[in-house]
Amino acid sequence: MNINEERLWKSVNDLAAITVEGQPWTRRSFTEKYNQGREWLIKQMKESGLSVRMDEASNVIGRREGTDSSLPPIVIGSHTDTVPDGGRFDGIAGVLAGLEIARTLHEQNIQLKYPIEIVDFTAEEPSEYGLSTVGSRAWSANLSEEMLSYTDSNGQTLREAIAFAGGNPDQIQNCRREKGSISLYLEMHIEQGPVLLHQNAKLGVVSGIVGIQRYKVTVDGLPNHAGTTPMNLRNDALTAAAEMALALETEANQTFEQPVVATVGVFNNFPNASNVIPGKVEFYLEIRSISENVIDLVAEGFLKKVDEITKKRDVQNSVENISRSGSIVVSDEVKKLLHEACNNAADSVIELPSGAGHDTNQMSLLAPVGMIFIPCKDGRSHCPEEWAEKDDVALGTQALLNAIIEFS
Ligand SMILES: [Zn+2]
Repeated sequence: MNINEERLWKSVNDLAAITVEGQPWTRRSFTEKYNQGREWLIKQMKESGLSVRMDEASNVIGRREGTDSSLPPIVIGSHTDTVPDGGRFDGIAGVLAGLEIARTLHEQNIQLKYPIEIVDFTAEEPSEYGLSTVGSRAWSANLSEEMLSYTDSNGQTLREAIAFAGGNPDQIQNCRREKGSISLYLEMHIEQGPVLLHQNAKLGVVSGIVGIQRYKVTVDGLPNHAGTTPMNLRNDALTAAAEMALALETEANQTFEQPVVATVGVFNNFPNASNVIPGKVEFYLEIRSISENVIDLVAEGFLKKVDEITKKRDVQNSVENISRSGSIVVSDEVKKLLHEACNNAADSVIELPSGAGHDTNQMSLLAPVGMIFIPCKDGRSHCPEEWAEKDDVALGTQALLNAIIEFS
């Protein structure tokens, strides 16, 4: 059974055309454009024989019944909202892959054993209300009353925004899904990174989604006159902090059982004046890996070096563990299913972790999950230049269809 590449590609272009004028390709959640895009999607879903509804969290759900009505559905999901000046593929490709699968099954009049639900989850990207994965959070009971009262810069609440999108926030608990109520959750997504390109691979089976550990490090030295203080009599907080940042890079550059990345993304120097020896530096760092053990190893190695550098340079440090989010590991069964499905669709398939979060994070609390990555041009995403090739979008969609047929 083959999907229709031309029809799929036309949908990518049709949805991309629903963008804020003069600001391609922007369709922010909870805006008029977003609603327009979803009206288009609902129309396409209905024409594909799906029964369509919007749930209390304003998730758009198109359902095709299976031959065994007692089975929980296979859910194929992603999102149609974009970041400002975003792209035409992030999230969108996954929803339209689901749509194309529904069209193919409808056209060939095939009913699988399992019901299938194609879902456009509400506001996956960080919204104006400071929250991401809003719709999938509602399913996994991770959307609290407090979150619903978050406001945007105009003072409008997320609760009001969900109502504007067509949801029913007062009854939001009704759209929760129980653990075990979904047979399998699958998401196709552009990689948003350079690994597939770099390895000349057409498709990627995602091994999991990385966990993230974040720290804040404060280095206290002694501010002093930059002209009168000799080099050997300084307690320079900036040079110490710089050495620490390099030490983090060295730690993460070692070879571990799983890939790991570490980044110092914020670096604040005080007093930040050209003739003053820096007296204080604050920096924020994060470490990401699919293996929490590897995260711990890099963190331990780094913190040891922080203490050594602090001693050697005669400064003080304080380290604060800001946050930790656990990784999601795709089960061997689902990986096997997806490897077969991808190998039947494309020549070169690799396995790789996802360095970014997705609706899959929330779904992993409810169901076995799996993701397929397709390459994106220059590994770029969240920018107007974001691009995936027509045949790659088709290969990923075909692999997704192969997977649900095999599973069924
Ligand atoms: Zn996305």
